[in-house]
Amino acid sequence: MSQSVCILGVTGSIGQSTLKILEQHPEEYSVFAITAYSRINELSEICKRFRPKVVVVPSNRVDELQQRLQAYNLSDIEILTDGAGLVAVAEHADVDVVMAAIVGAAGLLPTLAAVKAGKRVLLANKEALVMSGDIMMQAAKDHHAFLLPVDSEHNAIFQCLPENYLQIDRNGEPKLGVKQILLTASGGPFLNHSLAQLEGVTPAQACKHPNWSMGQKISVDSATLMNKGLELIEACHLFSIKEHFVTVVVHPQSIIHSMVQYVDGSTLAQMGNPDMCTPIAHALAWPKRIQTHVPPLDLFVHSQLDFQAPDLIRFPALRLAREAMQAGDLAPAILNAANEIAVAAFLQQQITFLQIAQVVEYTLNQVQNNSAQSIEAILDIDQCARVVASQRIAQLDS
Ligand code: NAD
Ligand code: MG
Repeated sequence: MSQSVCILGVTGSIGQSTLKILEQHPEEYSVFAITAYSRINELSEICKRFRPKVVVVPSNRVDELQQRLQAYNLSDIEILTDGAGLVAVAEHADVDVVMAAIVGAAGLLPTLAAVKAGKRVLLANKEALVMSGDIMMQAAKDHHAFLLPVDSEHNAIFQCLPENYLQIDRNGEPKLGVKQILLTASGGPFLNHSLAQLEGVTPAQACKHPNWSMGQKISVDSATLMNKGLELIEACHLFSIKEHFVTVVVHPQSIIHSMVQYVDGSTLAQMGNPDMCTPIAHALAWPKRIQTHVPPLDLFVHSQLDFQAPDLIRFPALRLAREAMQAGDLAPAILNAANEIAVAAFLQQQITFLQIAQVVEYTLNQVQNNSAQSIEAILDIDQCARVVASQRIAQLDS
């Protein structure tokens, strides 16, 4: 029986890579639903190629999509809209697998809906887990959902952990001989920039990642190292491990995607060419393996692998994320919201690169942290942090 797939954020970088793999395995997978926020032209091309049953777009894009689908004789595709549409496809009874690849907080509710519906959820949308942490993990447990990491580092860690590690009770301590997790970071395009050089970097430079081709927001996050900070929080939740058991290691070549160290002195690493199709295929097929177009690693070409510690003075975002995880409760949600607003402002050239972390730190200091008891509390603090961050940006901009 083929698996029915819903791709949230199909027009994005992860969405496109997912389609590439599904296209390679037409017997095993069919596309049931896809969603997009913009790029209606590309979306209708995808509809033509994959013929989904349902498409979700913002309500103000429906007319445009309808016209394009009509032109392709695809008027039988059902169109749903906005947040309610995203949730409806994520929890749809005909869906087996949900690829959560919307960027940012907008992906939280549909991802949670998929988890609560007990789907196999392929998690790319790290912001959703950073915001909702324990609530998302508990929902996965309660509803027997498989939450499989697509983020390359977390997928690597998952591959290096002992089998059934996630099924045993861990309570934040590493178990089954695991000593610690080594979370690798490329260091981004500005790894060797001085603070003075960092002051003047442009959005175009920040979006030009040396090893990975990704959406704009995660590219900027990789340049500030906030991406690694979000991933640190993501790892703590996914693997139920306290933050001091996760060490960040800068590895500029992005060949090792992360490692697990064991009490006997062993360090297991997962390696591969930097292409998201590998972790996507792994999460899709796990515990099986399926073919991708990614070429095998040629170690004679990549003969040098370097490692260094991250510099928290030049890249304070990583420090802020670790502190937010230590503070717990809603601090990671505040961090995430402030960062989304600050990155958008940087991309619009309202603030400088170094001001991104300053806005995040300011917001963390201003917004009162509370216990994360409900999704409503998380969404409230998300809104509150966005207002505070925006006000700070307006001050800096004037
Ligand atoms: P992207 O910007 O390329 O694509 C984002 C997708 O989300 C698009 O389809 C867009 O239409 C949709 N979207 C954006 N805003 C939306 C909104 N408000 N409501 C509904 N849909 C919306 O991003 P990406 O690089 O594909 O990243 C997606 C997620 O995966 C992010 O959370 C990112 O951190 C994570 N991730 C990406 C990579 C990568 O290599 N690109 C690697 C690891 C993790
Ligand atoms: Mg990653």
